[in-house]
Amino acid sequence: MVAMSEQWLEKSKKYLWLPFTQMKDYEENPLVIESGEGIFLKDISGKTYYDGYSSLWLNVHGHRKKEMDEAIRKQLERIAHSTLLGAANIPAIELAEKLIEWTPPNLTRVFYSDSGAESVEIALKMAFQYWHNLGETQKQKFVTLTNGYHGDTVGAISVGSIDIFHTVYHPLMFTSYKAPFPMVYRHPSNDPNVVRDEALAQLEALFEQHHEEIAAMIVEAIVQGAGGMHIMPKGYLKGVEQLCRKYNILLIVDEVATGFGRTGKRFAVEHENVSPDIMTVAKGITGGYLPIAATLTTEAIYEAFYGDYCELKTFFHGHSYTGNQLGCAAALANIALFEKERLIEQVEEKAAFVAEQLATFTELKHVGDVRQLGLMCGIELVRDRETNEPYPWTERIGYQTTLKMRELGMLTRPLGDVIVFMPPLTSAIADLEAMISIMREAIVATTER
Ligand code: PLP
Repeated sequence: MVAMSEQWLEKSKKYLWLPFTQMKDYEENPLVIESGEGIFLKDISGKTYYDGYSSLWLNVHGHRKKEMDEAIRKQLERIAHSTLLGAANIPAIELAEKLIEWTPPNLTRVFYSDSGAESVEIALKMAFQYWHNLGETQKQKFVTLTNGYHGDTVGAISVGSIDIFHTVYHPLMFTSYKAPFPMVYRHPSNDPNVVRDEALAQLEALFEQHHEEIAAMIVEAIVQGAGGMHIMPKGYLKGVEQLCRKYNILLIVDEVATGFGRTGKRFAVEHENVSPDIMTVAKGITGGYLPIAATLTTEAIYEAFYGDYCELKTFFHGHSYTGNQLGCAAALANIALFEKERLIEQVEEKAAFVAEQLATFTELKHVGDVRQLGLMCGIELVRDRETNEPYPWTERIGYQTTLKMRELGMLTRPLGDVIVFMPPLTSAIADLEAMISIMREAIVATTER
């Protein structure tokens, strides 16, 4: 008789089509998660794994956190969902109030959606229509940074720059101006200030030439996540904000990956005291429990949409599950837990421990760079550490390394040859140490064979 776990593996291969996954890979190495507890995931064979990527950068308090489960159950006793189109609900109101309290003070309005990509679509459409509603219809273009990622929908990929995700879809996309991300790694200068100033000068040149047609600039907040965990040099984001103000361009900051404590602040914009016109949040907003996202804006943007229905100023956007009560209740419980357990205040100490441990990775023969802000880390593997020559991408060294990590009891997903380490924020020091030790062993086993 075929074991139950085998049956699930077979059915997963037969019926599912997994996101961002080559199914041939999956068929060779299938995995079905059965349950989770704290910072561990368990598969159907009973093997447990550290959740080293917070189930794709979302999970904050660990799995099956009592308070989170209870809040969702309690909300279920009232209602699971009613539409937000023309009718508000209490969890959505409470969460909006809380988000406004938590985010930079200039943000005063909350527009809900269900995923990070949608929160970005909304930001783009809002920025575009804002100028349209003001009569400045020539402002239709967006500026984005090279190597950026803002989601996988058509609008979001049109402001994204990771070619492998986009090449096929180019004919579907609108064009955006690309400004260079201030990438310190592999830059001829070792001085982050030089990299910053050079990138800001290039951005200003672009603004000078095209500002009249630019609606907004969109940037990830301090860390470019999917692009390989690259961190902006200090002062760069502030510089972008100043240039946006100077050239009358809206600033959209994407906090989907960095928000809710991940970098050691509630939001990464706080590192530079930046006040975006529009900010997108998702992932950690519900602590990784349910799909809620939000786009926050200033009152000035909101007011540009205010008027008589027939003036066509209305923001024509919204989905069936927008503002879902269960999701909003989960988000409220998540934020209450942050406040009760003072989790963000603990990130600094945990991050310092991780930094100390990861520093030793730079001695490994094939580690080119270690990048970290808070508990958002990337370890870049290279063929030659002296020249930083990458592995040919067809070798898939990052993927092979994470398969080895899986065997050793830890899950994560690589970004090319960058190993992502984004543990739940509740991970104890001993757990962080154990996860780092697995990463080290897997890197050595894969790159020094
Ligand atoms: N924006 C950023 C910065 C992200 O990192 C991501 C996802 O990784 C997204 C947007 C898209 O979020 P989602 O996967 O929830 O659509």
